[in-house]
Amino acid sequence: MPVCQHCGTNWTWKQTMKRIMKFGLRMKCPHCCEWQYESTASKRRSGFLGMLPLPLIFILPIFDVSLMMTVFIAAILSVGIMTVYPFFMQLSNEEEPLW
Ligand SMILES: [Zn+2]
Repeated sequence: MPVCQHCGTNWTWKQTMKRIMKFGLRMKCPHCCEWQYESTASKRRSGFLGMLPLPLIFILPIFDVSLMMTVFIAAILSVGIMTVYPFFMQLSNEEEPLW
């Protein structure tokens, strides 16, 4: 779970999901109310995880999986990735460049 780099407090899964769902670049710590940013390593990891369902769209039709089932499987995988993502998220006190 992410740890606030300002006050050192662990965020809960629910607190992290609430902040992720706001889709902002910065997230306010629920304990010290300081702004926190996702670290560069964490952003790269989230980019990689977000791309994981994409190859399924091309691979599953090769095995005669219907389009509806392919979309369903990709959606389930996406939800699964979103669910476990707070466990891998890391925070930073400042906005870090992606590269
Ligand atoms: Zn804090």
